[in-house]
Amino acid sequence: MKIARIDQFFPRRRTRLVKITTDSGLVGWGETTLEGKPKSTTAAVEELADYLIGKDPLRIEHHWQHIYRSAFYRGGNVLMTALSGIDQALWDIAGKQYGVPTYQLLGGAARDRIRVYAHWGIGSLADEGKARAKERLEMLQKKGGYKAFKSGPGGKWRAHEPPAVIDAFVERAYLMREWVGPDVEIAFDFHGKMTPALAIEICHEIKGMRPMFVEEPVPQENVDALKLVSDHVPFPIATGERLLTRWGFREIFEKQAVAYIQPDTSHVGGITELKKVANIAEIYYMHIMPHCAIGPVAFSASLQVDAVVPNFLIQEQVDSGLGDGLLKEDWQVKDGHIELPKKPGLGFEIDEKEAERDCGVYEEELGGGFYYESDGSVADW
Ligand SMILES: [Mg+2]
Repeated sequence: MKIARIDQFFPRRRTRLVKITTDSGLVGWGETTLEGKPKSTTAAVEELADYLIGKDPLRIEHHWQHIYRSAFYRGGNVLMTALSGIDQALWDIAGKQYGVPTYQLLGGAARDRIRVYAHWGIGSLADEGKARAKERLEMLQKKGGYKAFKSGPGGKWRAHEPPAVIDAFVERAYLMREWVGPDVEIAFDFHGKMTPALAIEICHEIKGMRPMFVEEPVPQENVDALKLVSDHVPFPIATGERLLTRWGFREIFEKQAVAYIQPDTSHVGGITELKKVANIAEIYYMHIMPHCAIGPVAFSASLQVDAVVPNFLIQEQVDSGLGDGLLKEDWQVKDGHIELPKKPGLGFEIDEKEAERDCGVYEEELGGGFYYESDGSVADW
């Protein structure tokens, strides 16, 4: 069996897909969505296709090594996102070739079902925002029985803010706790936009509502700054969606800088690398909560690793990225869990007509979502 062709599709704003077809007619899908650089990942996949066409798709580790190491310059988010999508597609083909879900080729299931959390933004503190937020919570609980949610402080944050700004977020956090009760977990994503001092101050204000974790309290480049936050906060800190490969996580592990890591299967290096990162995390008693804020192919690839990793805690599920018509059958969430995938490969069938639709919108991805502070300087978002 040989790789016969590689195609790419852009059916949704945050969903960019790679399709690998073999000369035996098998098809594998992967996801190469990268905020800020959609054209670059497209070009990278095109370049890698020159190497992959004519090769045996089942030599996944060999292709991973070739793509990562062969051209002198290693890593970077463009190459790693392209490699991640290709790796997912090759694992999809491998599962289909052997007639089993991909997780069966990764060691078999370590659990019976996969726990997921949903995004639940509470919006502004205006009465209208509260009413909408409560409605959305009830809908999510009714629809999937979710027992864990993630929200965030939203907006832009300067190096320090007045009490009113901090209190608005803190009040929201406690209100969320009041609404869901003590049986439900709530986490907050700071999006890497705080300073260590501000992150620590805010974490102390919300510690009474017992967060499940705070994610990316500070940007990802400085592991010591992250560890400083962890050392001063009495609940778990998480990071990892912007870290690439085992080498990207090495310092996090060695310094025990966080409690949980959040590698993204479409950036870290695909299914192959996500499992390796998780296996290293196990020796540090760190659990993985794979990040997934893009489309249903990346989400499905994450589930395959979630199934087999002992130190898996929970899977992120952005509901707006799912159930959008790309999969013929959407993943069903019941009691806050998804049953183990049953179909061969990554476990879904794509509606190819939907996949071939070109959304043609690059705006959000090219803009990177940043905006400016009131003094005209660039803010993180
Ligand atoms: Mg995040």
